[in-house]
Amino acid sequence: MTEKYLVDPDLKFINTIIQNGGDNLKKCFQCATCSVICPLSSDKQPFPRKEMVAASWGLKDRLLGSPDIWQCHNCGDCSALCPRGAKPGNVMAAIRHISILKYARPAVLGRLWNDPWMLPLQFILSTLVILAVGFATGLLNLQNDGGPIVYARFFPVVLIEMIYIPLTLLVGLAFFVGIRNLLSDMRANYFLRGLDNSDSIKPVKFMKALIATLPTIITHTKLASCGENRQRKLSHMLVSFSFVNLAMVAGAFVFALYILDSHGPYPQLNPVKIFANLSGIALILGSLLLIKNRLESTDGHNSYFDWYILALALGLGVTGMLTQFIRLADQPMAALAMYFIHLVLAFNLIACLPYSKMAHFVYRTVALAYVAYVDGKS
Ligand code: SF4
Ligand code: SF4
Repeated sequence: MTEKYLVDPDLKFINTIIQNGGDNLKKCFQCATCSVICPLSSDKQPFPRKEMVAASWGLKDRLLGSPDIWQCHNCGDCSALCPRGAKPGNVMAAIRHISILKYARPAVLGRLWNDPWMLPLQFILSTLVILAVGFATGLLNLQNDGGPIVYARFFPVVLIEMIYIPLTLLVGLAFFVGIRNLLSDMRANYFLRGLDNSDSIKPVKFMKALIATLPTIITHTKLASCGENRQRKLSHMLVSFSFVNLAMVAGAFVFALYILDSHGPYPQLNPVKIFANLSGIALILGSLLLIKNRLESTDGHNSYFDWYILALALGLGVTGMLTQFIRLADQPMAALAMYFIHLVLAFNLIACLPYSKMAHFVYRTVALAYVAYVDGKS
């Protein structure tokens, strides 16, 4: 017998989807063309038609905990071919945006990082944190006492560690809570659809599914199946690999300092330095390509949520390179100012991870792993 499902439309939720880019949602007439042409849709759980139905009814619990919204890589193929111009790709993106805000903990930080009016406050807060820790510890030195420019004389490595290590741990904690809630919602969603009736997630099995999913994530294989926005694969890979590379470079310099007792600045031909510079160039190029793609996009939706992270990534790459050029040009005060701006941008980039579009890297990985986990079990 067919199971009964009590439809409880949430009008506020429908409006939130519309406000976040799903403004053509109501044009959908359920033809299912989108699910047929989506290169990432599975035969077992096709999307995005069912999400269009659920969204037009405001069925929040069917959408926010659905792993399928994270399977979508926003290639835009469905939006290009939808006969009604309902732009299902935009609706899927809007639901992911709402999900990121739902999992934002503390919620106030979700608002801080998603309201354009809060932008000045973000920069004031990160600047104050850096200055407060610097002055409170007496480690910040703003005096130019001559000699070659050495950033570690102004901002000793230990000061950088005192600021960025706790920040990274707090971001990790926010993600931990977000992932736990996402997993719980995905299980409830799959339970509702009769796809996962297990008592709990087996951690070892889940980790195996996660590890098996990583090559697909790292190689951006799914983006390669896009028709409309195929070029996004290159820009995404440039930006994501440059972030990973720059984090490894920071680790290498910390290792050199503490283990090898080797202090910077390092010669321009140092292999790690060359790698860092190439990664910095890749970050700038990747960000510019993403900006170009967005400017040329015909999906008709460009929000602060989309632009914030692009501007931040580009700013980080540009200030990183300028920091180095100004040091080489021997302009101490300008170099110090540029380095400080770079530190503030780096602070904001790390702090915004669980609350901005960047969070999709983490939540999408978890959702793909969950689907692999459930599929492996059945
Ligand atoms: S979103 Fe467009 S393609 Fe998909 S079911 Fe609705 S009308 Fe058809
Ligand atoms: S945007 Fe692309 S991946 Fe997402 S549902 Fe549409 S066709 Fe599928």
